[in-house]
Amino acid sequence: MRDTDRALVQAATAVAKLRCRSDNHTVAAAVRTTDGRVFTGVNVYHFTGGPCAEVVAIGAAATQGAGELETIVAVGDRGRGVLSPCGRCRQVLFDYFPSIRVIVGPMDALRVVPLADLLPETYVWSDHQVQVPAVPRTGVWPMPVVPGSRQAAED
Ligand SMILES: [Zn+2]
Repeated sequence: MRDTDRALVQAATAVAKLRCRSDNHTVAAAVRTTDGRVFTGVNVYHFTGGPCAEVVAIGAAATQGAGELETIVAVGDRGRGVLSPCGRCRQVLFDYFPSIRVIVGPMDALRVVPLADLLPETYVWSDHQVQVPAVPRTGVWPMPVVPGSRQAAED
């Protein structure tokens, strides 16, 4: 754990205390870019599958034009401490930022692990995309591309 890793945990902890005050928002995440910028987000709980805090933090970083993400951590509300990313977030992180570091473990023994250590024998999405000719689409608002992400296949 570097000082910047501890600071990232503190940032997520502060957001969890300040913003996670209802069942709608129960986890805060903080991400640090390779150039040291920090972005935070909270989960948006909803029975339809609202996004986890990690995904919201990734979106916040992309919104601000952040580059490659280096480290991420999630902290639960009500003093639950650092939470490991769920399976969906592990896959999202792997596909967007395969070299990202993740802070995990109990508060008195936090450690940083490469994401790949949390996702052995992983499914590599880009290895399974059929290359089809691009079809021009009109009337579709262009979505910003998150740095490090891959162009989505046509749906
Ligand atoms: Zn998740």
